[in-house]
Amino acid sequence: MIRRFFNKLRFKILQLRGLTALPVIPQSPMRSTHRSLDERELYPHLFPNYKPEPIPEITVGSIITWFLIKFGILMLVMWFLFERYHLQEYWMVGLAVIWLVVVYPAFMQYQRFKAQTRMLEANTLCAKCRHFDETGHFCKLLDEHVSLTYTPCGGESWEAKQHFGKDDDDETFS
Ligand code: SF4
Repeated sequence: MIRRFFNKLRFKILQLRGLTALPVIPQSPMRSTHRSLDERELYPHLFPNYKPEPIPEITVGSIITWFLIKFGILMLVMWFLFERYHLQEYWMVGLAVIWLVVVYPAFMQYQRFKAQTRMLEANTLCAKCRHFDETGHFCKLLDEHVSLTYTPCGGESWEAKQHFGKDDDDETFS
């Protein structure tokens, strides 16, 4: 019962964000019906709001900032309401509101950020450059944001991410 209500609520939120009306990917009659679908083809359908703009819509910094702003405002509002109307016994409702208004949206934003990162990694020169910052999708050398359609240096300052071993902990050349 609760699970069904939760699923309905979640679907409603996705519907409001326009993420439920996913277009069907047409199958070419010339191709085999068993053709494996490239993951990249799915991104525009899974994340229709994704726009390859020069300035990324979401970064780790923006997610954390909005998390803290919303959490701070919500705590003040809830503190006022709980004190004013003596609602201390309904603290579970307070937790649910925090989850719905703060934690869940931040989680969804992080999922979209990861999708953007995968998109850049698969399609840009910068993703393989040592000056690329994954958490903000920007170039540390030129201090500019990177996108699918914009490479700040035009490829002139590109330097490979060089590793001595397979592990990311290994030192890079400096
Ligand atoms: S130096 Fe050039 S290739 Fe490397 S991250 Fe910056 S803009 Fe991209």
